[in-house]
Amino acid sequence: PENTTDIPDEARDRHGELSLELDDHSYRYYLGNPIVSDAEYDALMAELRGIEEEHPQLITQDSPTQKVGAPISVDFAAVEHLVRMESLGNAFDFDELNAWADRASAEVPVGAYLCELKIDGLAVDLVYEKGRLVRAATRGDGRVGEDITLNVRTIGAVPERLDESVRPAPELLEVRGEVFLPVEAFAALNRRITETGEHTPFANPRNAAAGSLRQKDPRVTATRPLSMIVHGVGAYTRAAGSEDVVFTSQSQAYALLGEWGLPLSDRYKVVSTMDEVHEYVAHYREHRHEPAYEIDGIVIKVDDFALQRRLGSTSRAPRWAIAYKYPPEEVTTRLVDIKVGV
Ligand code: NAD
Repeated sequence: PENTTDIPDEARDRHGELSLELDDHSYRYYLGNPIVSDAEYDALMAELRGIEEEHPQLITQDSPTQKVGAPISVDFAAVEHLVRMESLGNAFDFDELNAWADRASAEVPVGAYLCELKIDGLAVDLVYEKGRLVRAATRGDGRVGEDITLNVRTIGAVPERLDESVRPAPELLEVRGEVFLPVEAFAALNRRITETGEHTPFANPRNAAAGSLRQKDPRVTATRPLSMIVHGVGAYTRAAGSEDVVFTSQSQAYALLGEWGLPLSDRYKVVSTMDEVHEYVAHYREHRHEPAYEIDGIVIKVDDFALQRRLGSTSRAPRWAIAYKYPPEEVTTRLVDIKVGV
């Protein structure tokens, strides 16, 4: 293998420069105040990955290619997630998507894929103890997030208590999902804040959701019609003395979470072939604006939990899931980003 001293200065310098730049973009992005488009960020990340592929010695734990999110801000208390929150690997075309499926299928017998929308919001972790919401946190760096419980309590879609009419609530349940601002609510909010001069308009619904959720005063958050859709399970301890409720697959877990009253998407689909996955991706590429919220791609997950566990994760993302990213929509985003702040 290449000795670190053999790495050309040019590659080493560019690596350092890109790492700093990407860390800075991440930090701004998670505050809801990015200064470059997602496509520009993804291109810088691809360049960094390219350098690391050529010079693997440059890969350290601290490289942006190996990390999730960004360090948390001092405005909120730090909370440690019960189960680590991850990012997702990306595919930008069907070849990359098929390569992911081939790698998974070479390891385990994948029988079913769950396809769902990749909501362009921000990841939030919810903890329910004996059916009561006790904590909500941002993803942060995946291990430690920010305590935003009071703000999340203002979101109508997030139940304060789990519905126990079908079965008792678990002893402990940690779920994660996406908090977002529906497109129409975003437009109305921007009209309102322009009229009242309370704020500069937001560049897009994601920034508006991030800015609204990270308010220090939850009364401000309460005036922003945020919503949430759950797309994952973290820690889980079933109710004492109840019949065994075991999560066996992503889709079966969704059914149970729905019965407990958690907000779920009704657009996910379980399929058995990659041709059907392609159809789902193609369908929403054509009908991207049909949902009430913005999406930036499709997430494909191996449905079976036992297979998910066998496939495991890299340092930043599960091997059992991938995000198919749609191309950015407007070339004007950049201009808008520059003109309006958060
Ligand atoms: P990601 O957004 O590519 O994917 C992971 C996230 O997707 C999860 O944390 C989850 O919250 C979300 N998600 C939405 N729907 C989901 C679903 N149905 N199932 C599972 N997860 C779902 O990765 P990331 O680590 O959050 O961020 C990286 C991306 O963010 C970049 O590729 C870039 O597009 C953007 N970014 C932009 C800037 C910028 O300055 N513009 C900076 C940092 C990151």
